[in-house]
Amino acid sequence: MQTLKHTGLGLFLLALGSFIALLFLTQYEVSEASLARIRPVLAPDQQAGVLEKLEELKGKTYSFKFSYVAKVKKQIAAYNEEMAARWGLSQEALEEYVQAALQQAQTVEGQLAFTPEGREAVQNLLPEHLRQPALQKTAWMVEAGRRFRSQEDLANNLRREIAYVGSQAAAQKQVAAYQLKDYLFAIVKATSKGIFWRHPYLFFWLIIGLGALGALMYIYPKFFDGLPGIKHNGIFHRSATSVGLVGILTGAFLISFYILLYFYHYYIAEWIALVDPVSQWLRGEDASRWFMYGFLYTVAILVMGVRMFAKYRHSNYHKIRTASVMFFQTAFAFLIPQLLYQLNLPEQDLKNIWPLDYTFFFRIEEFTATQIGTFMLVWGIVLVLVGVPFLTYFFGKRWYCSWVCGCGGLAETLGDPYRQLSSKTLRSWKIERWLIHSVLVFAVLMTGLVLYTYFTQRATLLGLNSYDVRSVYGFAIGSVFAGVIGTGFYPLMGNRMWCRFGCPLAAYLGIVQRFKSRFRITTNGGQCISCGNCSTYCEMGIDVRWYAQRGQNIVRASCVGCGVCAAVCPRGVLALENGPNTGQSRMNEVYGPAFVDAGGEE
Ligand code: SF4
Ligand code: SF4
Repeated sequence: MQTLKHTGLGLFLLALGSFIALLFLTQYEVSEASLARIRPVLAPDQQAGVLEKLEELKGKTYSFKFSYVAKVKKQIAAYNEEMAARWGLSQEALEEYVQAALQQAQTVEGQLAFTPEGREAVQNLLPEHLRQPALQKTAWMVEAGRRFRSQEDLANNLRREIAYVGSQAAAQKQVAAYQLKDYLFAIVKATSKGIFWRHPYLFFWLIIGLGALGALMYIYPKFFDGLPGIKHNGIFHRSATSVGLVGILTGAFLISFYILLYFYHYYIAEWIALVDPVSQWLRGEDASRWFMYGFLYTVAILVMGVRMFAKYRHSNYHKIRTASVMFFQTAFAFLIPQLLYQLNLPEQDLKNIWPLDYTFFFRIEEFTATQIGTFMLVWGIVLVLVGVPFLTYFFGKRWYCSWVCGCGGLAETLGDPYRQLSSKTLRSWKIERWLIHSVLVFAVLMTGLVLYTYFTQRATLLGLNSYDVRSVYGFAIGSVFAGVIGTGFYPLMGNRMWCRFGCPLAAYLGIVQRFKSRFRITTNGGQCISCGNCSTYCEMGIDVRWYAQRGQNIVRASCVGCGVCAAVCPRGVLALENGPNTGQSRMNEVYGPAFVDAGGEE
């Protein structure tokens, strides 16, 4: 068994090393064939100009990714400058227009008026394509009765409005920031060459296949490591699970992975292309970064789910809930959306619930375009308004957080080795309450603005731009908090960073669980030996022992009902139950208060 375990570890490390090395095995060369592959990705009116700029890179092979990407960025920046010069307005032309317009201004009662006739007289100074937009933009300035305090006042207003018209005209032709990353990814991928690009299937099996096999070989002996039961021996002495060097390196790898995935995916084109064979099979097209992420996420849950079966093989509760998260991730989060895509329907994970699924209401138009999409919209709203309160009333938030959710699924499988790293201090509890409820309020406000824009077609309310607010939320909460911190910090601060401090759905479920739910963890206080195992392994940082020592039921908003506190208790003190909360110890319920008060003596 030891040989199998060590061989598995070796294979896994080999696959991981190859996965990282893959990023450095590519060379880049711009050719006619690669330009032909890039063309369809570019917006039609940008194709000729951008390709012309890329052609200048032909005839040379680039070996270093960062310098190659920098060169491509430079070429696109040059294209943007050309567009600005051709379609925008230079500083000199703007100043010439402003000075000419000032000549046309009339003095009325000591102030200046800019008339439609005066404006007409200087229109020809603008390029033809800017004239109509300039008329619209300056319409307010020529209204009857509009006066300007001084020449400077009029000149400043003119400069601002006309400069805006020029910059907008140029921006329409330029490569925008939101396009740039996808263009860079397509360009890097299309111009890549090297051993990986010639044998993608081979590398897929060598890295993903061998990596998963190695991990399973490493896990398999755990099924036979003595009697079934929790074995946390040495967990605080292992570098990987006690924020030692291995833990810090793992955290650094995960954080880097998320930063590259969310913000610089053109640097990981090899990782994305690695799963092209699966994407071609399931979707009929090359993989996107989100397909790659979903695939690796699912593989991680499946492989580490097997580890959970071995570690908790004495507990049916853990075996069934692990099977449940594996099923929901594989079927609902991964496979069904691919099928929906093939059927040209909205790719919706039907178990994903707003406000965790914060883009749900961004997509109303996409949903209402088809009958099945309309059903998805109604289903999602029913889940929020009826499903969550109803199921949480009967089962607590565990029905979702520990049995269904994808984030919970990863935390309970890949994150299980790190559950003891959660902070148990009162200060953390305080931060948790402020932070998670603030995110919930932010999500509600952001969605309110999205719905306001949808129903009124207006983008701004009380000075807040709906599109700006949603992009701030997407960046700060959707990417940085949920991804980079939420998962990247597993080996550093525990496996439920996102669920505990950031998830707005967990906040909503928690409010229902705290104030209106039959779920509670009951205690048999008299049996507690204060060993503290329960608190140590509570991934949500709940000081379970504090309640156990007092014989109090645990009814906490943050408890995800993972059941590990009960599983690690050597005295059987804790039990996850659904029923009326009497607030009393099971000792009282079984023997009566008089027995307990007498210290257990008849
Ligand atoms: S209190 Fe127990 S069931 Fe609740 S989150 Fe902590 S370990 Fe899991
Ligand atoms: S694990 Fe059990 S015995 Fe130990 S402190 Fe918690 S409730 Fe008490």
